[in-house]
Amino acid sequence: MSPPIDLRSDTVTRPTPAMREAMARAEVGDDQYGEDPTTNRLQQQMAALLGKEAALWMPSGTMANQVALLVLARPGDEVVTAREAHAGWHEAGGAAANAGVQIVEVGERGVFTRAQLEAAIKPAGLPVFPATTVVEVENTHNRSGGVVFPQDEVVRICALARERGLASFLDGARLWNAAVASGRSEAELAAPFDLISVAFSKGLGAPGGSLLAGSRELIQRANRHRRRLGGAMRQVGIFAAAALHGVLHHRARLAEDHANARRLAERLAGCAAVQLDLASVQTNIVVFHLQPGAPDAAAVVASARAKGVLLNAFGARTVRAVTHLDVSAAQCDEAAAHLTSLLAA
Ligand SMILES: *Cc1c(COP(=O)(O)O)cnc(C)c1O
Repeated sequence: MSPPIDLRSDTVTRPTPAMREAMARAEVGDDQYGEDPTTNRLQQQMAALLGKEAALWMPSGTMANQVALLVLARPGDEVVTAREAHAGWHEAGGAAANAGVQIVEVGERGVFTRAQLEAAIKPAGLPVFPATTVVEVENTHNRSGGVVFPQDEVVRICALARERGLASFLDGARLWNAAVASGRSEAELAAPFDLISVAFSKGLGAPGGSLLAGSRELIQRANRHRRRLGGAMRQVGIFAAAALHGVLHHRARLAEDHANARRLAERLAGCAAVQLDLASVQTNIVVFHLQPGAPDAAAVVASARAKGVLLNAFGARTVRAVTHLDVSAAQCDEAAAHLTSLLAA
């Protein structure tokens, strides 16, 4: 049998030969002394590309999010996010365990409005309430199927945050996908926020690494928290070289992943066993639900695996498929054929 078509996540990509070569050739030094030239170059280039004063490499997106909350909030504070935000669902309770904050989810399908944020901000000055100090946007939103957060609403949300003294944070693990899908630059999408994170290990295909960007002052504080969490590393240039290669060579091609996800989604939406909102398929993620009477997610994932297609069960009756650098259009079509036949059975 040919190797499996792995649609579990865009994190499963392996570095290409050219990326490995860039990594092998990377000039390195001790990043704790600020002496890793490749990491310094990545941080400078990303600060410029994202339109922020400064940037700091992070070993993972989870640590980037944790450090962001440590910088922007104090223990006991409240952070407003969209429903099913990564920070609340996929970080092992780190928001509470590390930053000591509680998360309040608002909106629907990965997005929310200025009015919904306003309603969620607890009244100030009363001792019973926690202080609402941070608003976090996830763009694209993972669990809602890679949806792009409408930028005009982002602008209104961040304006309200400033009026009410809240800090704003963008979890932009897939900001690259949001930029390609919306036709807006990463800098424009990032502009309204105090602090943002991006990941190199998702669609861009690097073996690891994320980055925080913001004002010099916030990044200086982030550096201390990174160290405290044990995320300060040494010859990071090997990873930074992979990130630079991914940004340069794998960013524009994300449009192919989006087209592949769309084709897969359209075929799945035609199955009676599947409930899939095609409007949610805007980038490289396809989240679908199984209709009453259809097998559950674990059964669908198991029968797909037997056909050589790997998927993720995202809930009892919810399945996620993600397209990426290491699956071609032909493989996505093959996966769609297997899935539609097993869902029809
Ligand atoms: C993947 C992801 C992260 C970071 O995950 P790591 O696996 O720790 O790199 C953060 N936010 C979102 C929305 C993600 O999808």
